[in-house]
Amino acid sequence: SVCLHCLTLWERTLIAVKPDGVHRRLVGQIIQRFEQRGFKLVGLKMLKVPEDLLTQHYCQLRSKPFFPRLLEYMSSGPVVAMVWEGHKVVQASRVMVGHTNPAEAQAGTVRGDFSVLIIYRNVVHASDSLEGAQREIQLWFTGKELVNWDCCDQSFTCEL
Ligand code: GDP
Ligand code: MG
Repeated sequence: SVCLHCLTLWERTLIAVKPDGVHRRLVGQIIQRFEQRGFKLVGLKMLKVPEDLLTQHYCQLRSKPFFPRLLEYMSSGPVVAMVWEGHKVVQASRVMVGHTNPAEAQAGTVRGDFSVLIIYRNVVHASDSLEGAQREIQLWFTGKELVNWDCCDQSFTCEL
């Protein structure tokens, strides 16, 4: 269903609206940005993230001094987790989400448009690499929760 040219660059990534984004009612606007860019939603759920999922998700940051505060922040409300699919979606989402520190995030990015100075309250998570995305999607979603479907506009967003 996807042309061969696109297939090699076809990816999935984990995007999550963090508790501050949910509390501030930004979920719709964030979803809209990914939809209008032409990416395809293949998984979506809302959850209060269990601590063991958080520690696995952020295992590379375990030794950082801010780790306890990060877990506290990520537990301060529900999260909306999504899997988006499309052409080089991993890198594209990182650009759309913007710099980790909102103070340095460019206008036009989610963090640059919706967040302020506090580094760890940065509205949204996006996987940082293809390997990271695969690891995180497996952590957050079961196979059954991911939906395979052909989007009716695929002939416009796919090259051949
Ligand atoms: P990301 O991939 O851009 O989300 O950034 P990282 O993977 O490096 O860090 C994960 C999350 O930890 C960030 O999104 C922030 O919420 C938080 N974080 C990262 N660096 C810092 C920091 O220096 N201080 C604090 N308090 N939080 C941080
Ligand atoms: Mg990261």
